[in-house]
Amino acid sequence: MERIVYFDNNATTRVAPEVRDAMMPFLGELYGNPSSMHAFGGQVAKHLAKAREDVAAFLNCSPEEIVFTSCATESDNTAIRGTAEYFGHDTKIVTTAVEHPAVLQPCRRLKALGHNVVELPVDHVGQIDLDNLRDELKGTKNALVSVMWANNETGTVFPIEQVAEICREYGAVLHTDAVQVAGKIPVDVKKVPVDMLSMSGHKFHAPKGVGLLYVRKGARLKPFMLGGHQESGRRAGTENVPYIVGLAKACELAASAMRDEAEKLTVLRDRLEAGILAKCPNVRINGDKNHRLPNTLNVSFEYIEGEAIAYHLSDLGICISTGSACASGSLDPSHVIRAMGVPFIAVHGSVRFSLSRYNTEDDVDYVLEKLPPVIRNLRDLSPFGPDSDPTTFK
Ligand SMILES: *Cc1c(COP(=O)(O)O)cnc(C)c1O
Repeated sequence: MERIVYFDNNATTRVAPEVRDAMMPFLGELYGNPSSMHAFGGQVAKHLAKAREDVAAFLNCSPEEIVFTSCATESDNTAIRGTAEYFGHDTKIVTTAVEHPAVLQPCRRLKALGHNVVELPVDHVGQIDLDNLRDELKGTKNALVSVMWANNETGTVFPIEQVAEICREYGAVLHTDAVQVAGKIPVDVKKVPVDMLSMSGHKFHAPKGVGLLYVRKGARLKPFMLGGHQESGRRAGTENVPYIVGLAKACELAASAMRDEAEKLTVLRDRLEAGILAKCPNVRINGDKNHRLPNTLNVSFEYIEGEAIAYHLSDLGICISTGSACASGSLDPSHVIRAMGVPFIAVHGSVRFSLSRYNTEDDVDYVLEKLPPVIRNLRDLSPFGPDSDPTTFK
């Protein structure tokens, strides 16, 4: 394969060279356990403390409010199951139909265990209705709201500031899955007063296998991982120091470059979007164009299958995805696209392009050269088209 154009950055990103360099000493001579009594471990504890301070500065919180985890899936599970365990069956849980499976599945498990769990619907651009949230919170005693900051499939950004206001008004605890906004748009937990927030290293140029949960001081939840007293008793298990140091470095890089990068990504993404619309007929853009992550483009190519598109582009070195990586492997259309009520002729043909700081205009132009013939060929093979009878679709 000659060339790789990696447009699947909402699934995972390349580790930044600066991040890898920052991690190396901790994969070498600095291997002590930060919890050890001796000075050899103690010097590592100092680096761990520094990483915690840097990450806290990134979120504008205090270092004691950061709990390092193994991934955002763990962070999401900790926030939701830990809060439900603390409050017991009195907890009402309100989430949305378009959350990542790392939020939806624990919520559905709690529902199976007898909790009152509600999934808010979304409209055709993937937005929630804040009045629905208010209605669900009226009269609740212990409510937990888990609403993502931005959607991984469509890039739709939720009005999380208003969600936070409503949660305050009704005394509800608010968790947000902020995996897709970290490094793309500013995240400040003083400006947006969430109680818990999940992030994942590998979605913004740190390695896979490290994440964090921000837990506002005073937030009440039971620990998910039980064992040693690491992370002030909130998450047992020896800290993954090299990766935590890498995560802190990724935060530092993101903080210094975010504004320029967001501008650059918007230009590239819009070039891709405009090119696709100009070159391919029967296409629709999924998501909220007025509130969208700068790097994400979700497109439905009507009458064909997203899997087939991704497969043929893969042969040309172009990496994209259908739905989320976590849902691929099944041929069911994405729960996010379905929740938005995208018409049947378009649901199966949805694909996601997600860019990063390492993409170039050349990458975009390469895709704009290779994609249209792929779409034409698949359409020629498709039994469906604008003239076919919609009632024959199954
Ligand atoms: C990738 C992703 C996750 C899961 O993160 P991991 O660190 O891979 O567990 C959770 N939520 C969203 C929105 C994601 O995009």
